Amino acid sequence: MRLSRFYIPTLKEDPSDAEVVSHKLLMRAGMIRKVTSGIYNYLPLGLKSLNKVANIVREEMNRAYALEVLMPMVQPGDLWQETGRWDFYGSELLRVKDRHGRDYCLGPTHEEVVTDLVRGEVKSYKQLPLNLYQIQTKFRDEIRPRFGLMRGREFVMKDAYSFDKDEAGAEDSYRLMFEAYKKIFSRIGLRFRPVQADSGAIGGDFSHEFHVLADTGEDTIAVCMNEKCEYAANLEKAKVNAPADDSASKAECPAIEEIATPGTHTVEEVCAFLEISADKLVKTLLFNVDGEPVAALVRGDREINDVKLRNLMGGNEIDLASEDEVKEWTGAPVGFAGPVGLKVKRIFADHELCASTDWVAGANKGDTHIKHLSLGRDCKIEKFADLRVITESDPCPDCGGKIEFTKGIEVGHVFKLGEKYSKAMDATFLDENGKSKPMIMGCYGIGVSRIMASAIEQNNDESGAIFPPAIAPFELCLISLGGKDLAVGEKAEELYGQLMEMGIDVAYDDRKERPGVKFADADLIGYPMQLVLGGKGLKNGIVEAKNRKTGEKIELPLEGFAEAFTAWRAEIWQSWGLTL
Ligand code: ATP
Ligand code: MG
Repeated sequence: MRLSRFYIPTLKEDPSDAEVVSHKLLMRAGMIRKVTSGIYNYLPLGLKSLNKVANIVREEMNRAYALEVLMPMVQPGDLWQETGRWDFYGSELLRVKDRHGRDYCLGPTHEEVVTDLVRGEVKSYKQLPLNLYQIQTKFRDEIRPRFGLMRGREFVMKDAYSFDKDEAGAEDSYRLMFEAYKKIFSRIGLRFRPVQADSGAIGGDFSHEFHVLADTGEDTIAVCMNEKCEYAANLEKAKVNAPADDSASKAECPAIEEIATPGTHTVEEVCAFLEISADKLVKTLLFNVDGEPVAALVRGDREINDVKLRNLMGGNEIDLASEDEVKEWTGAPVGFAGPVGLKVKRIFADHELCASTDWVAGANKGDTHIKHLSLGRDCKIEKFADLRVITESDPCPDCGGKIEFTKGIEVGHVFKLGEKYSKAMDATFLDENGKSKPMIMGCYGIGVSRIMASAIEQNNDESGAIFPPAIAPFELCLISLGGKDLAVGEKAEELYGQLMEMGIDVAYDDRKERPGVKFADADLIGYPMQLVLGGKGLKNGIVEAKNRKTGEKIELPLEGFAEAFTAWRAEIWQSWGLTL
């Protein structure tokens, strides 16, 4: 493409509402323009990159036997009523009425529509497995749209849905998608990690998020630093193993004693007052689980993990108790709850609490705590279980290695749905014995537009973006410094023709601009390869080649250019971990 005929409205300044680097650079490089909050136009350059991401996704989905379809963006409310999500989904679902007053919504996801499609088509086990996917615009009325394409309200997603006749088939479908995702993110050239995520009621290891590693990510993930171990999990999911030795909890412990702790409500205040460290204290948290009071105990310096508690409660909704409930169940103001004498039938404790005894806890009495608490002796714990959030000082639950927290951007999610939608919507088939059964489903999303942004979050410098070659809007920028030197212009034209013939996606900067402008634009946009042809080079029979990522420049001979260029190009791709 000749840049003299292309439209790239670059900006000198960062837009005032842009907080993260990808948002700034996508705007400044003339790739996107804001229409309104969380909604963008893709300009020609931006769309080129988006399409490259989409095509890699498409190729790998096709290879994994997923079949491309296109479902509507506008969906009838009736379908959402069938699954109960019309009421449950909340304000992210944009609801509209048609001229007859009927309910519709803009699709934030397509489980309802795809299940409706498949129940109308598939009748027999012979038609299964089936995996349908689409690459399409989604709408979610996000509470805080921000960071440009990272969290838009309208965004492009690939969503796939698998249908199987039994559990084993569903697990195969899941694995096939998991492997396809690894190929997709590798081919795009991103540093990423598959991360275990909570699979709620389904249980097992059937929910993985794929995270692009970048300091600016919104999510924190726990990653094992042992090179031989692949453990990575989001904080909701990350397991903490039970202590190996629980003998200390059975040690002698004096009888419980009350101590006055006037005006101390928080763990910090209690510890400061009693001059103890927080790991000597048991924190008692109260929850309302379907109307029933439940207490959960964790060490004073730990955070309760709500998702782990919810799963322990069979996946029921759990709510932190209100102030009134706390007062009713403890008989004391907030801040003095403890496991002894609590009006709560079920008490669960984090299994770390088995490793010690002689605790301090709330006394269920205003301005009072107890000391010398032995959990086994003084209260009835229904179960010791993994209930807290992992920390960086915990060992890896798989190999015992060192855990570190890293920031990640969620770019994909594979998830086993089981029978949730097929049961609710009666999507059944006849098995080998003529018996009617609900199909077993999985769903698999990729944030196509978010990938573009996360590629920049991961790869940029003070001059601009640095695109991985496979998804760069153009793989190469050929800069002609011809000016009045007609011979340079002629040779640049010739090189351009040659590169086009070689099938290279090249941006040919033939604009009548100063060299400085051309260099700055090329760096800002972040083409991974630049070729610069000037008068001096032409005289010496060379063209300068720059690797945008490393800044390294080499000279390629004009004589035998094709061969030298091909070798250089392979090196550049290799530096991104990619083979051509
Ligand atoms: P998040 O936790 O970031 O809101 P999600 O769990 O809601 O993501 P899914 O419903 O699993 O996301 O959607 C599949 C993929 O779509 C995500 O992995 C992400 O890459 C992308 N995605 C989700 N919401 C947005 C958004 N508001 N803007 C851009 N991409 C998004
Ligand atoms: Mg979301």
